[in-house]
Amino acid sequence: MITLVAATNNPHKIIEFREILGKNFDVKSLKDLGLKVEVEEDADSFYGNAYKKAKAVSDASGFAALADDSGLIVDALGGAPGVYSARYAGTDGDDEANRKKLLKEMAGVTDFGKRTARFHSSVVIVYPDGTSIAGAGDTEGKILFEEKGAGGFGYDCLFYSDDLGKSFGEATPEEKNSVSHRSRALYDILASEIKG
Ligand code: IMP
Repeated sequence: MITLVAATNNPHKIIEFREILGKNFDVKSLKDLGLKVEVEEDADSFYGNAYKKAKAVSDASGFAALADDSGLIVDALGGAPGVYSARYAGTDGDDEANRKKLLKEMAGVTDFGKRTARFHSSVVIVYPDGTSIAGAGDTEGKILFEEKGAGGFGYDCLFYSDDLGKSFGEATPEEKNSVSHRSRALYDILASEIKG
């Protein structure tokens, strides 16, 4: 069993880490360890922010730490919200306001075929000895004209998955995990040698 501390305060990400990594991994939360670690996500890349989070949590916990930095990249918006996905509307983690802003910004793009977008995830594991490994994954889709489905989190109910033929909000956790950017990034990192 490999222990990894999830370097995130987002409970949805921790649930997905556990679902995707399965029973060979013991994914602990910061809460499980009684730790509070705040990291300023001021890097200009997904990888840079993921590395910062994993390094801070590995230093604080003494365990290997796993971080994901992810976001939505919308072609018609020149790649926005990108690394700013969590605070697109101004307040970090206000998913509802972020979705509202996205719909507003996309109002002029009336052709569904031109509403192309992808979720990206960069994952990094930092070990207590300071070494690290990284992985990345994407999943393609389109921005819907209105919210569909109540599952998932963040932009899920506005993201029509090309692979699934429905929104991530309408998908079961198993369906989302079978094609998601986060699972692809985790499979990518699993291809590296993970130290027990
Ligand atoms: P992070 O914590 O800086 O990585 O923020 C990622 C942000 O991107 C989240 O707050 C969500 O708004 C969005 N995001 C990332 N992954 C997903 C996903 O799987 N579904 C929906 N939104 C996501």
